[in-house]
Amino acid sequence: MENQQRRKFIKDSLKLSLGLAAASSAMKPLSVFAGTEDKADAFQFSQVALPYSYDALSPYIDALTMEIHYTKHHTTYIKNVNEAIAAEHLTFKNATDFFAGASKLSAKARNNGGGAWNHNFFWQIMKPGSSAEPTGKLADAINGTFGSSAKFKELFTQAAIGRFGSGWAWLVDDHGTLRIGSTPNQDNPLMDIADVKGTPILGLDVWEHAYYLKYQNKRNEYIAAWWNTVNWEAAAKHLV
Ligand code: MN
Repeated sequence: MENQQRRKFIKDSLKLSLGLAAASSAMKPLSVFAGTEDKADAFQFSQVALPYSYDALSPYIDALTMEIHYTKHHTTYIKNVNEAIAAEHLTFKNATDFFAGASKLSAKARNNGGGAWNHNFFWQIMKPGSSAEPTGKLADAINGTFGSSAKFKELFTQAAIGRFGSGWAWLVDDHGTLRIGSTPNQDNPLMDIADVKGTPILGLDVWEHAYYLKYQNKRNEYIAAWWNTVNWEAAAKHLV
């Protein structure tokens, strides 16, 4: 007991001296204080380099769609979420932390944060010259859960087609259990408000901007073609 009280006394004294230090730094001119220390600590999103050329996934995804998608849509989500992080003084440590509190974020932070992260993920689970059928470790997991890759694709396609308006279809690993679902807008399964929660294994962008130039209203044809672009090995690395 005596030891505990001693520790508490030391802790309180420490708090007091830290408080005094904070008070003295708060006396610095505000612009210097806010301009340096706030920014240095805040997590910001950055755009991954596209792991292939714009035309690499052709004919399944055309070069112009890829270029606009990467350089306009995705770049804008990154810019806007980082603006929101700065303007709202958000101090998350990482993306997981950011999305775990999604229900408390502003619309700008939530929508653009989702857009920033989802596209970084999307680019990396695709590659040119892939096979339309799951391979390796992920094939085993899919067969174990859904019975066959045909059944898995059928359920995933239903989720992707059934998402009304803009959103994403997902395959997630929820603590060792694979699940399929979809999210509206730029929400994702890392968000506390998502219907389907877990670690994303596959994600498919079903916003019209992802397919309209080539497929117009035929989302089903885009989804059918997309299987030929999946990087099954990269996706398998996300299995829990
Ligand atoms: Mn998109």
